[in-house]
Amino acid sequence: DIIAALVAGGIFSIVAGMFLSGRALIPIRRSWDKQQRFVTDASHELRTPAAVIHAQTELILQHPEHSVEHESPRIAVILKESRRLGKLVDDLLTLARSDSNQAQIHPSRLSLDSVLLEVTESFRLLAASKGIAIVTEIERPLALWGDDGRIRQLLVIVLDNALKYTPEAGEIRVAGRYASSYTLSIVISDTGCGIAEEDLPHVFERFYRGDKSRSRTQGGTGLGLSIARWIVEAHGGSIRIHSKGTEGTQVELLFPRKAREIASRESGSRRS
Ligand code: ADP
Repeated sequence: DIIAALVAGGIFSIVAGMFLSGRALIPIRRSWDKQQRFVTDASHELRTPAAVIHAQTELILQHPEHSVEHESPRIAVILKESRRLGKLVDDLLTLARSDSNQAQIHPSRLSLDSVLLEVTESFRLLAASKGIAIVTEIERPLALWGDDGRIRQLLVIVLDNALKYTPEAGEIRVAGRYASSYTLSIVISDTGCGIAEEDLPHVFERFYRGDKSRSRTQGGTGLGLSIARWIVEAHGGSIRIHSKGTEGTQVELLFPRKAREIASRESGSRRS
């Protein structure tokens, strides 16, 4: 019996070993490869602004006789690239924390209609300077059980893209409503350059940029939509993008209406 048990045990550990070294390790390997790619891409992205700052600073230091006015174009480049570096680091931290589940969502009852109007308002001046009109169609009241900071971050990402990729004299539309008994919907549409069909399936990938040079000159990091998707999904929602060639882009954010019920129950219990 002892011999039989030892043989059975041996066979079990051989099979378990094969399983662990083979199929069971595939997801771990994939996740490892993904992390490796993330680190390589991140290093590459960080290197560019760091190199520009380095080169420009060296050039300034080579000519101490030059006045500040004379060097102001170089200083402006340093400022722009250091801002870019700061944004990249912030975005990378958000994604790294979301990967390790350290990024917490702190929900509370939000007046989403006010949040939408406030965030939209903060873009109005910038939009006007590009001759872009912002139109809002927001149902009131619109309640969401969500993380105030993260929801604002999400709206800023989507609105910032709408503004970046819409040429002068265009229009951005922000709509918020209860779409069904189950869903609350926010749709942000623009009349911009749109997204090419071949790019659409990839826009949520980290560092993916549809039109690389356009995105880069507009200060894009290729991380915005990855963060946007994480925020929406952390709220139990989903994000969809529709774009037909040059007819502009529509970003649809859907949140479970359950959130509305929780929110109204909360406000009801607070009132009572
Ligand atoms: P980026 O920092 O490059 O804007 P995102 O992750 O926010 O990165 O978006 C990924 C890509 O999706 C962009 O590079 C761009 O090609 C495309 N994109 C996103 N939003 C829009 C939009 N409103 N109009 C056109 N293209 C867009």
